This record gives sequence, C-alpha cells and structure tokens, in this order.
Amino acid sequence: MSSPVVKSRNVLKRNSMRVAAALLAALASFVAGPNAALAAAPQHHDRVPGFYRMKVGDLEVTALFDGTGVFDPHWLKGTKATMDGGVKALQEDPHMLDVADVGFLVNTGKQLILVDAGAGTWWGGGAFGCLAGSLRSAGYTPEEVDIVLVTHLHSDHVGGLTTQVGKRVFPNADVYVAKAESDFWLSPEIAAKAPKDAQPFFQSAQAIAAPYIKAGKWHTFSGSEPIVDGMQLVPLPGHTLGHTGYEFSSKGQKILFWGDIIHAQRVQLQHPEVTAIFDIDQNAAAATRLQLLPRLAREHVLIAGPHMPFPALGRLRKEGNEYSWAPVVFTDQWDEHAPPLQK
Ligand SMILES: [Zn+2]
Repeated sequence: MSSPVVKSRNVLKRNSMRVAAALLAALASFVAGPNAALAAAPQHHDRVPGFYRMKVGDLEVTALFDGTGVFDPHWLKGTKATMDGGVKALQEDPHMLDVADVGFLVNTGKQLILVDAGAGTWWGGGAFGCLAGSLRSAGYTPEEVDIVLVTHLHSDHVGGLTTQVGKRVFPNADVYVAKAESDFWLSPEIAAKAPKDAQPFFQSAQAIAAPYIKAGKWHTFSGSEPIVDGMQLVPLPGHTLGHTGYEFSSKGQKILFWGDIIHAQRVQLQHPEVTAIFDIDQNAAAATRLQLLPRLAREHVLIAGPHMPFPALGRLRKEGNEYSWAPVVFTDQWDEHAPPLQK
C-alpha cells in the first residue's frame, strides 16, 4: 500500500501528463490537423478555359473564351472635343480598354454552329488561343462543328480556324463569309497594293482560309440567301467591306452576333461616333453603329459581342444619346429541365 503522500504525488503526475497530452494534441491539430482553415491554402497558378451557356428560345448558346488583348486608346478616332474629354484620361492607363476575344457556339438542336473563332495563334499583343479548349470544356469537340459563320476576316475572328501549319481545326465544318469580305482579303492584287501596315491582315486571312478552300469548305454569300433556319444576315458595313452580323430568332427571342460593332466599350457606348483605326471605312462604320444601336436597345436584342467583357453577352440600355451595357450574369432564364447550378 502506498502512503497518502505518494498517492497524491502520483495523481499530480497523472494530471500533469493529461494536460501535456491535451496540449500536444492541440498543437498537432494546429500544425497539420483537421482544422484546415488554420493552414494556408496553396495558391493555384493555372488558368482554365472558359465557357458560359444560356438558352435563347430553343437555341443553346455558349460563349467560348479565346483570350484577352490590349486595346491601345490611340487606335480610337473621334473629334478633338471627344478625344480631349473622357478618352484622354484613358490614355493614362494602357489597360483601361483591355478587350476579350470570344467566339460563340449555337446548338440549334440540328446543327452545331460556331460564330467567329477567336484569334488562335494569329494575333500578337495578347494571350489568345483558348477557344478549342473552351469548346471541349463545354462538352463538344471541334470535329462536331457543322458550320462556322464568320463576321469578317480579321485574324482575331478567324485565327482559331487554322493552325500555323495549315491544318483545319474544325475539319468537318463548312465556313461561310460575305463574298465582298472574301474577295477583298483573299485577292493577291488588292493585297499587293495595300499599305505595308495592312499586309499582315491579308497574309493571315489567306493562310487561314487556304485549307478550307482546298477542301471545298469555304463558302461565300452575297445577298440574303438562307444558310441556317431561323438566322438572318445583317450587313454591318464599315469596319470591313463585308462585315456581317448574324441574327438568330427562336420563340420570340433574338440574339445578334455583331462582330466588331464595338471595340472599346468604355468609349464607344458613350460616343458611338468614335471609330477605330481598323475600320476600313470610318464614316460607314460610325453610321452603321449609330443606326444599329437604337434598334438593339429598343428591341432588347441579346447581343453577342466578341470584344465585350466575358461572357460577352448582354443587352444595351439607351440613356439619352449614350448607351450602357447590361451583361448577362446567370440571371437569364435557363432551360426549365436543366439541373441547378452545381454547388
Ligand atoms: Zn475584332
């Protein structure tokens, strides 16, 4: 039998060991333990391709992110008063006018149609070339695309069609473009006479089109001939000769794929008369924009604008002589049969 003193010493020893064990356990859980919030989460440096999907009537429309680029404020042209006003302030920050580059996929239920194809590897001064990855992330493959409608032949809209070694990215697709557009950019005679600065535009258009022409998959249109059921051609001249919008209608809803109607939304929505140096016919480009924007605002037409902020889908609100952009933000009605957003 132990003495009372020895017994109390043992109790003390046992108690202090219990306290030490509890402290060690707390320390262990602090260092590596179940309370993860106490540990620093590692940062992720990879970026994933992006897509945004919505319904327009019975059409499924998916915005496919291709990349982003810098838009130099000096590329804008307007009156001295306009340029000295708000635009000059933008020139202090070269990133104020950064643009997205987006293509759009329309699944009509019968056909898979791509409208504009992003820059791919054909446009410098930005980070592009994500469109095919975005397409795969959205659940489709390039081989499944039946038709490509291109608004014009600048390489930030058609570069995604072809690799640098001349391979078709969409091997089963028929490509459609306005005849005036195709005739202009693919003409060796016009290219030869063009200023040196414009030469790369001709060279890229010709290289991108070549494998589709060779395969008999390059088609032009010159009027209002139907290419796809429920789709209307909307000539939007000025930016380029055959610059064309594509307006789809379904169940009373409309979506217009408007190409390069707006490059610098921070300036041109306030001042639709301001043009860009890439507009081949400055007066026509301004006139087209001034004519088009009121109708789109009045009719609440959904707009797919490749250079608007991703997902580059939204509507215009008219306020006096100015416009504001109301982007879709997961608020548009989705298919009632679709599952809710993943949590
Ligand atoms: Zn463009």
